[in-house]
Amino acid sequence: MKADKVIFSNLIYKGTGREVTGGGIAVTEDRITAVGSREEIEPFIGADTEVFSYEDKLVLPGLIDSHIHITMGAMMDDNDIDLEGTKSAEECAAIVRDYLERNPDTDLILASGWMISTWDSRELPRKEMLDAISTDIPICLSTADGWLVWVNSKALEMFGYTKESVSDEEAYFIKKDEAGELTGVLYNKGADPVYFMMMDIDPDNARRMLRNTFRRFAEFGITAVGDLSNEHVINREPAGFRLYRDLEKAGELTCRIFIYPAIDKDLTFAKAGQLKKEYSAGLVRMQGLKAYQDGVIDSYTGVLVEPYANDPNDPNNKSLNAEPIHTQEELNAKVIAANRAGYPVRIHCTGDGAVRMSLDAFEASNKANPGHGMRNCIEHIEMLHEGDYERFGQLGVIACKQPAHLLLCAEDFMIDAIGEQRWAEHQPFQSIIDAGGEVNMSTDYPIVDIDPMYNIYAALTRRIPEGEIIHNPEDAMDIWETLYGYTYSGAYVLGVEDEIGLLEAGKKADIAVLDGRIIDEPPEDLPGRKALLTIMDGKVVYQKDA
Ligand SMILES: [Zn+2]
Repeated sequence: MKADKVIFSNLIYKGTGREVTGGGIAVTEDRITAVGSREEIEPFIGADTEVFSYEDKLVLPGLIDSHIHITMGAMMDDNDIDLEGTKSAEECAAIVRDYLERNPDTDLILASGWMISTWDSRELPRKEMLDAISTDIPICLSTADGWLVWVNSKALEMFGYTKESVSDEEAYFIKKDEAGELTGVLYNKGADPVYFMMMDIDPDNARRMLRNTFRRFAEFGITAVGDLSNEHVINREPAGFRLYRDLEKAGELTCRIFIYPAIDKDLTFAKAGQLKKEYSAGLVRMQGLKAYQDGVIDSYTGVLVEPYANDPNDPNNKSLNAEPIHTQEELNAKVIAANRAGYPVRIHCTGDGAVRMSLDAFEASNKANPGHGMRNCIEHIEMLHEGDYERFGQLGVIACKQPAHLLLCAEDFMIDAIGEQRWAEHQPFQSIIDAGGEVNMSTDYPIVDIDPMYNIYAALTRRIPEGEIIHNPEDAMDIWETLYGYTYSGAYVLGVEDEIGLLEAGKKADIAVLDGRIIDEPPEDLPGRKALLTIMDGKVVYQKDA
């Protein structure tokens, strides 16, 4: 049978192993029909076959970024105000004031990029500084990692947050001061409305932003993503899911999206079941659930085994540690019930304390649900305590890592917060592999850019782009581990390794051709490298102009 498309290259990486081979790939409709030597593939070429020849460019399965936040990224990429690199609250406020003076018709300010770890003062900002800029326009300024949002009084009003409506329990997420006043800092689920209001308020605009985002993914050769909802309640269908489906129906979706709504207090899984039914086929599918066990070390909300070395926001120095989101009992119950109901769970943990609690919960589920076969994962793992390295392999829990996050760390801040010793062991990659664990690659976009080659660069070098080693070069991964982390391993995390992630006959035709040899190039040449050709489901979704 003649193929629709044939791709030749001297460098084909199939998704596993430590080698490339020369030859070709034949594609008919949405499937790979053959992978083999040039001689084996040539007979598939007929009069109507489209032939692509790429000499020394790397061909591999379409890249899979298993952990991103699509709607948040689409919004963060779409604003004109950049707060990255600011040194203080005053500097952020001045940028916003200046923007409003130049754009007087603006009716909402949504901007991001500040990080308290790069500010001169590590005290949290307050709404009053933004109220001095405007009391009529909602102003929402997110940290680069999306965990904290600093807002003015108008925004608090728009979200319906008042001193009276926010309970003491909720004040952990919608911050109050000692006098019980809202401070204008929203944390974690308190910040949800900021990222999701746009999706609900203006779907046309949201679809436009999403189209731009998916176009960038295709330019990088990305054909599948895990969308880990950062909407913290599953009580409603996240607006993004519907918009992805709209784009799929319109034939505009250029990557597969595997969605993971968050489990909150809902242990009945009724809503999860409904979503699973609705998103069970096609390019948008629900594969499991997301949970949170802590925040981030950067804002002292990561849960540690041994307490923080300091915390300027905890003036009484009472605990010097963060509260886990769930108690051990709650987490065990949630994971056991989710796995029993057929949902793998992916748990956000930055601190080693949260990681340990999650490993314990997965261990409890393995006992309660023998042979469950769920792809349970721990996301981030910025710190890992002695004795826990081997548990990933032993328990069958996948370590979902984002190497480029290492490059976000402000070293002096981290040494102050966790001390020299723990900083030296911070961000384990290779050490988890060496202990028998599966390490997967993702970016957590928009926390860092979606650029896979920048992420691979970070994994290979543990250096900032200027060349300075951050620390612990022995924990660097090698190129084969990173390519595997972006292909077969990504499919494995998402539970779809029988469909994608490998170049072999019978698999879906998701294929990327990158602009370079990649495998033996100096790592510093990799960031910014894009695709020459991206095929998803047998269709060309991106081709670089010759
Ligand atoms: Zn995330």
